Amino acid sequence: MTKFVKVASVSGGKDSVAMLIVMKEQGIRPDYVVFLNTGIEFPQQVHYVHQKLAPWVKENFSLDITEIHPKEPFALQVKKRGVPFAPAGRWCCRTIKKEPFYLWLREKGIRYLDLYLGYAADEEERFRNAKRQVKSYARKFGVKIVHLYAPLLDADITEEDALKLTRKHGLYNELYDHFKRTGCYLCPYQSLDDWRALFWNFPKLFNAAKTLEEMSIREHGKTFRRDYTLAELEMRFRLEKRQAKIEEYVMI
Ligand code: SF4
Repeated sequence: MTKFVKVASVSGGKDSVAMLIVMKEQGIRPDYVVFLNTGIEFPQQVHYVHQKLAPWVKENFSLDITEIHPKEPFALQVKKRGVPFAPAGRWCCRTIKKEPFYLWLREKGIRYLDLYLGYAADEEERFRNAKRQVKSYARKFGVKIVHLYAPLLDADITEEDALKLTRKHGLYNELYDHFKRTGCYLCPYQSLDDWRALFWNFPKLFNAAKTLEEMSIREHGKTFRRDYTLAELEMRFRLEKRQAKIEEYVMI
């Protein structure tokens, strides 16, 4: 039997969480709330989804969050092809997010769906591009996305508003104390500031990323960034701190 469902995709970031709040306010009830756990999430993000978001989803939609995992661990993928690097070699989104999602739909026998994504009002162009790509990618798996919705965009809610909305509803994600974004901790698209914040606040995760990059350099000659390896970034961040201390001392 052909199934048609409404699926809301959440990452635990402010936009997708605010999207759920808006859906609730507008009386839109998804059939599934899915969390694509890439295996390289911040542990704090996974904890947030399990401990804070899941009870809210249960209370407001009477649903459990469906957690979807890639078939192979990320480290194994890196061993085969090296780390994803920006901008040309980003294989990760496809392999650890999209594929597992569409395979899950197929396993569930879902052929038609409305998909709800957390694009905000200031991401109109990104949403337009996503619309094209997502629909054609879905077709490869024999799935038709009937409508792709961005409830935040439709309600003219910006990223900043989204963060406020999560605060107001007790769903603030504390990773925003350190970062502007909360994707995978080793995302090659993150800014230098985010790598710096990762290094100083989450050193174990920075080291995990560095270890993966070292393997990737040895076996594929690939790094996360074009300008620095993570080992070089580490040196840079330590030097910056030392320099700041010297300047502070000279001022005194
Ligand atoms: S958030 Fe970054 S690392 Fe994670 S899948 Fe997307 S591009 Fe890849």
